[in-house]
Amino acid sequence: MKNCKDEYCKANCADINTPFPRLKLTCIGVYGECYHGYEVNDEFILGDFTHPPKHFCLGLAHALFPVAYALSFGARFGFMDNQKSLKVTCPDGGKAEFLVELLDKNDKVKFIPKDPNHKGPNPKNMEIEVVKAKGKCSYKYKLGDKWQVKGLKCIDGFCGAAWHVAFPALFALNFGAKFFFMKDHNSIDTVTCPDGGNIIFKITRKD
Ligand SMILES: [Zn+2]
Repeated sequence: MKNCKDEYCKANCADINTPFPRLKLTCIGVYGECYHGYEVNDEFILGDFTHPPKHFCLGLAHALFPVAYALSFGARFGFMDNQKSLKVTCPDGGKAEFLVELLDKNDKVKFIPKDPNHKGPNPKNMEIEVVKAKGKCSYKYKLGDKWQVKGLKCIDGFCGAAWHVAFPALFALNFGAKFFFMKDHNSIDTVTCPDGGNIIFKITRKD
C-alpha cells in the first residue's frame, strides 16, 4: 500500500464535527505478511480517535485505540523522543509496527522532546467505581463498588469484559490524560459495560 492510496489516507473526515485532535499513524516497520499490504512509510490520518480511515484494520485499531485515546486527552510518554507520540505493534504476531502522533489544528505534528528527567515507569493510583447500575450483572457489581488500581496492573478476579472497556481510560490516566469535559479532569464517568450497559464505571486518578 505504498504510502497509502488516497481512499485509505484521506480519511474522508474533513467534514466531521469533533472537538478532538487529528492523529497521524506512520508504518515504521513490516515484519510479516499483512493482508492489508501496509508498507514502511505508509501514513494514515485519523479524523480523531474515533475516526480511522476507510478499510482500516480493526485488529490494529484495537491495539491502537488506548494510545490514540490517551494522546487525544493530553497523555505524555516521557521516554519517547516526542512525548506526544507512541509506537503500536500489530497484535497479530507483530507483522507491522506504527508510530502514532498527534496533529495540531494546522496538521503539524505536536512535539514535546523527551523528558530528560524521565526515570522509568511512574504508575498512578487509580480507582474504579460503579456509578450507575441499571440491570443485572453476572459479577454482581452494584452501585458504590470500588476497586483500586496501580498503573496497568489488572485487578485479580475483575470482570474481563469490564476491564476491556476500562483499559483505555486507565491507560490514558496513567500517562497523565485530563478529561477536559469532566468537572474533575482526573476522572471519566462513562465507562460502560458492553453487555447491555448494565453497569457504568467512573475511573479516577488519585495522584
Ligand atoms: Zn483494509
